[in-house]
Amino acid sequence: MREKSLPEDSITEEEVLKILVEMKGRDLQYDRFFSTMCTRPHSIAVKAHNLFLETNLGDPGLFPGVAELEARTISIMGDLLGCPDAVGYISTGGTESNIQAIRAARSTSRVRDGNIVVPASAHFSFDKIGDLLNLDVRKADLDEDLRVDISSVEELVDDRTLAVVGIAGTTEFGQVDPIDELAKITIDREIHLHVDAAFGGFVLPFLDSDYKWDFRVAGVSSITIDPHKMGMSTIPAGGLLFRTLKDMSLLETDTHYLTVARQASLTGTRSGAAAAATYAVMIHLGRSGFRKVISYCMDLTRHLVAGAKQIGVKPVIEPVMNVVALKVKSPTVVRSELIKRGWHVSMTREPNRALRLILMPHMTHENIDLFLEDLETVLKNL
Ligand code: PLP
Repeated sequence: MREKSLPEDSITEEEVLKILVEMKGRDLQYDRFFSTMCTRPHSIAVKAHNLFLETNLGDPGLFPGVAELEARTISIMGDLLGCPDAVGYISTGGTESNIQAIRAARSTSRVRDGNIVVPASAHFSFDKIGDLLNLDVRKADLDEDLRVDISSVEELVDDRTLAVVGIAGTTEFGQVDPIDELAKITIDREIHLHVDAAFGGFVLPFLDSDYKWDFRVAGVSSITIDPHKMGMSTIPAGGLLFRTLKDMSLLETDTHYLTVARQASLTGTRSGAAAAATYAVMIHLGRSGFRKVISYCMDLTRHLVAGAKQIGVKPVIEPVMNVVALKVKSPTVVRSELIKRGWHVSMTREPNRALRLILMPHMTHENIDLFLEDLETVLKNL
């Protein structure tokens, strides 16, 4: 039965739960998801989330306990990203964090309808930002390794540019832009440099690599880092961090009826549960726990790439993190054949159209092997 209006009479809890369980049964299982940057949350995150389910960080004076957990979470993330004094808040995800970072940049610059320069590989949240804030979103070319091309950024920046964006872990290829080179462009011109590390923020600190991409790069003003991606927290948990309180305070509005006089977040009511969940995973796993998670995902990545090469399929770039784009003939057809076999893969955009696979903590070697068998069959039948 599908209700088309609010039932007049109460439906028993048992009946409601029956409907819910049936619908939950229709949802697909993470085991076969290669397409998502989210994963099953860590069990400690679920426990913390449930404990703080009714809390609202939009009115923190009523919930000082969870507000303290949020503050501690921001300090820990700031420290991880090279700036223990960073300020910020737990947002609903990468999109909100990116919107807010650019809003703050616009307020600093006082150019209301200027432009932002983003890599061509930027997440589509920046197109939403252009629309919301009435900004021209200029897309810089990529080099052959799919990092942003610095000379292209230089050509696009002008005196109406209010922010430059670099990405640490691109959505499609997991590539890291040369953030230190971008900083050389922005520092002299006093332009806000925002780093979108929605995905890479919880990967790069735990890899044996020497990328310079976080607050350790002078000139980086704000960073997006999502606990509900590789941070293994519950949805919706995004992170937005600013190097200085001044930038974050530009987002504040007066609140007339709450326990606090001013509010910087985009949403009013917001989940305390997600902040508590993020805090719980971070202190439970610690650096060594995260290193293990990332090392597992990188091992899966190497396993997938080695197996793909054996069946004649090469990655577009050698993976930097646990994101792989595989070059195949007719990727659209291949993808739909794989979906028929229960494998959820996505695709990258032109001009590098390929199968896109994210090796998240829910994936296993066994499922990668099964996937590769199916991929080989699908390719043979083309
Ligand atoms: N930025 C990057 C680099 C992403 O990969 C994503 C999502 O995949 C986002 C931003 C948007 O994040 P959300 O879907 O949490 O809003």
